[in-house]
Amino acid sequence: MIAVDGPAGAGKSTVARKLAACLSFLYLDTGAMYRAFALKALREGVDLRDEQALAELLADTKIELYPMASKGLVQVILDGNDVTALLRTPQVNATVAQVAGFASVRSDMVTRQREMARLGGVVMDGRDIGTFVLPHAEIKFFLTASLDARAHRRYHELQQLGFDVSIDRIREEIAHRDMLDSSRPYAPLLQARDAILVDTTDMEVEEVVAHMLAICRHRLD
Ligand code: C5P
Repeated sequence: MIAVDGPAGAGKSTVARKLAACLSFLYLDTGAMYRAFALKALREGVDLRDEQALAELLADTKIELYPMASKGLVQVILDGNDVTALLRTPQVNATVAQVAGFASVRSDMVTRQREMARLGGVVMDGRDIGTFVLPHAEIKFFLTASLDARAHRRYHELQQLGFDVSIDRIREEIAHRDMLDSSRPYAPLLQARDAILVDTTDMEVEEVVAHMLAICRHRLD
């Protein structure tokens, strides 16, 4: 099991997916699970401050992840419907950290994530994977980059998806989300003590993947 954690826009999903492909491991994007649930809560009009209502809604929610080789993404099926293209909208970005902050929401998600990883052979990316979801993962990475670099990456990603966004808004949004993710009392965003820090500010994606792959091959041998 390989855990990849870090703040928003550090390149986790891109490199975790590539790393999984190189190792023939399954890639599990836990952020996509929280995003799918935030989307459902928004659609259902649930009060996003009501932990009990959110926990009940999640208990009645099915989230499936499937590898999607062609687009290099993870396909996300929410209650039987493909919501992959709806998970990175400004509305979901603005609400996901709030929904993910509740202990009862997290404990349900963590149970699902551990079950998905039960058989091993997975690269799982998120915020609390190395510290909480898979504390015994064989290899843990903590990916980071300067706020500016992360904001630029998200900007290009969103532009490619067709969203008309401003770089300043994105910088503010990810800084705010990081603050919420790092300051929540239950399983916050944190570098595990045994995680390897990778600062991707001045690195190309392929360079990051090669670096991580070399570490994995060495450790898994
Ligand atoms: O990784 P991504 O940016 O898609 O994650 C979206 C949000 O989901 C994060 O900002 C965080 O609030 C939440 N999340 C989390 N724990 C994880 C993965 C994501 O709280 N393991």
